[in-house]
Amino acid sequence: MSTVLEIPEVVTMQDPRSQYAGTPSSIEIQSAPATQQAMTEKPDCGEGSYKGSGRLAGRKALLTGADSGIGRAAAIAFAREGADVAICYLPEEQADAEEVAGYIREAGRKAVLLPGDVSHEGFCQRLVADAIDQLGGLDILVNNAGRMGKTAGILETSTERFDTLMKTNLYSMFWITKAAVAHMKPGASIINTTSVQGYDPSPGVFDYAMTKAAIANFTKGLSEPLMEKQGIRINAVAPGPIWTPLQEADGDKDKLKKLGQNTPYKRPGQPVELAPVYVLLASQEGSYITGEIYGVTGGMGIA
Ligand code: NAD
Ligand code: MG
Repeated sequence: MSTVLEIPEVVTMQDPRSQYAGTPSSIEIQSAPATQQAMTEKPDCGEGSYKGSGRLAGRKALLTGADSGIGRAAAIAFAREGADVAICYLPEEQADAEEVAGYIREAGRKAVLLPGDVSHEGFCQRLVADAIDQLGGLDILVNNAGRMGKTAGILETSTERFDTLMKTNLYSMFWITKAAVAHMKPGASIINTTSVQGYDPSPGVFDYAMTKAAIANFTKGLSEPLMEKQGIRINAVAPGPIWTPLQEADGDKDKLKKLGQNTPYKRPGQPVELAPVYVLLASQEGSYITGEIYGVTGGMGIA
């Protein structure tokens, strides 16, 4: 008896320039936090396409900012690869988070919803404790929550904006990682979301770009001690221009109309195009990979 292998369309060879939608035609600037539900043109987070093959069977994963965008694509992929998944998001994003929980449960895995604000140390500590408590351990941590917005220049940048960016993008990663590594076992994996902005900053987001440079540096700086002392891997993913709610959150409509035009693809990436990299870095197949920054940039380079 022969088995017919069902091949998802995303793995058939095709022109990557036209594989996904071009530059979004419908852009609605939202105030942060922007939600996926409020977007008229939805990103593709792999809801209808990602197929797992047991790469993360039995793992327990916590992802921040996983109600939408890149984190949502990673959360769906992790669940379909066999992991139980806890997701963190802001309370305003409850509806997006419940959709993700639905996909995790549909994959036959446990979904844990942990709303809260990662710019507060107390919440970050509770987040890790609650994830461990409800999942029964922690093998994979994805520090992905982030804020961007825009600024006109250093003179226009308020201390309040600067402080919020540092606390949300950077301090949270320090607080959550510190709380998590105390409980992680050899073989565990940490993945941080940095950006091409960390290498090649745009003037309108110079402060956001600073946080992304620091995230890459934090990843490299911790890789040696975490491996030597605990057998834990830590890597980062550096996305290029990806179509997600973050782009619409206090964003610049004129710039967004050109999103991805600075790549040879002439289109932005979709969150689903990053999911396989998060899966590789989380899985045991990535056993010899640590301290690396993986670009998924549409050819923009990361150095
Ligand atoms: P997104 O808006 O879908 O995800 C960002 C998430 O961060 C939100 O869903 C929200 O849950 C979370 N978040 C923000 N502030 C928070 C807070 N105070 N407390 C708790 N959660 C908070 O957009 P995305 O583009 O998928 O962003 C994910 C990551 O990717 C971010 O770190 C972002 O900087 C990074 N990134 C995105 C792009 C891109 O082009 N979209 C490029 C490079 C890097
Ligand atoms: Mg969101």
